[in-house]
Amino acid sequence: MPDVKLDFQAWLAARRDSELSDESDALGEELFTWMDEQVVVEKSGWAPELCERVATRLQAADPASIRKCPVVFWSEQRTAFAVPGRYIYIGRRLIEEAMPEDAVAFLFAHELAHHRLGHTKQLLPALRWARHLPVAQIASFLAVAAVRLATSREQETEADAWAFDRCLEVGYDGRSCLQLFDVLRKVAEDYGDLDMAYGHDDVEAAAQRELDKHQQPEWRNALSALLERGARARWEIIRGYPSIRDRRARLEARLAERTR
Ligand SMILES: [Zn+2]
Repeated sequence: MPDVKLDFQAWLAARRDSELSDESDALGEELFTWMDEQVVVEKSGWAPELCERVATRLQAADPASIRKCPVVFWSEQRTAFAVPGRYIYIGRRLIEEAMPEDAVAFLFAHELAHHRLGHTKQLLPALRWARHLPVAQIASFLAVAAVRLATSREQETEADAWAFDRCLEVGYDGRSCLQLFDVLRKVAEDYGDLDMAYGHDDVEAAAQRELDKHQQPEWRNALSALLERGARARWEIIRGYPSIRDRRARLEARLAERTR
């Protein structure tokens, strides 16, 4: 019999982790049901097939239990996002932009990285809160919480690096992967135009009003921190795109190092 000492702290941490992941799964399924009822989820045709193909190739070596499924949904927003649970949401309009399959793979891999690096767990409190929202508000809430606000600049950089390495490992072309940034820049430019027309903080303001209405002080603090970060990130994207350019430059350097 091996001499195994029970590390109570580790046991407790593991337990919390597995409870968290059960909760993630449950919330993820609830959210999927909601998306499927309220938003058009595309289940056949080139778009889901393309996403399925890249998801399979990127996760071929991963155990089935941790693989994520792509969900193509219809929205005006050209976006993709990861939330707790087993789905990764990809806006149909984003992949309609001209880009090679390698760039779509990089897009999926980036969202996958947010899962693998533990970033999506931070969305749990916000998602618990979203459960109490009237259905009509969930979309704007998601736009706020899931699209980009829960990810800091450091997390974006980390996710990019993880995703890029994974793409190269499974044989995608690095240069072609990076074409995603051309698309993101174009999207940012278009948001810039929208910004001039409508103001860029409408979504945040709507979410804040909801928060005030529901008087949920615990979530309010967590969410206002997220909002503040998100507003800054968005501002950076709209004014001169330093973050998109930086993200691309970082990965170009990474590629140059590998091929040296
Ligand atoms: Zn991200």
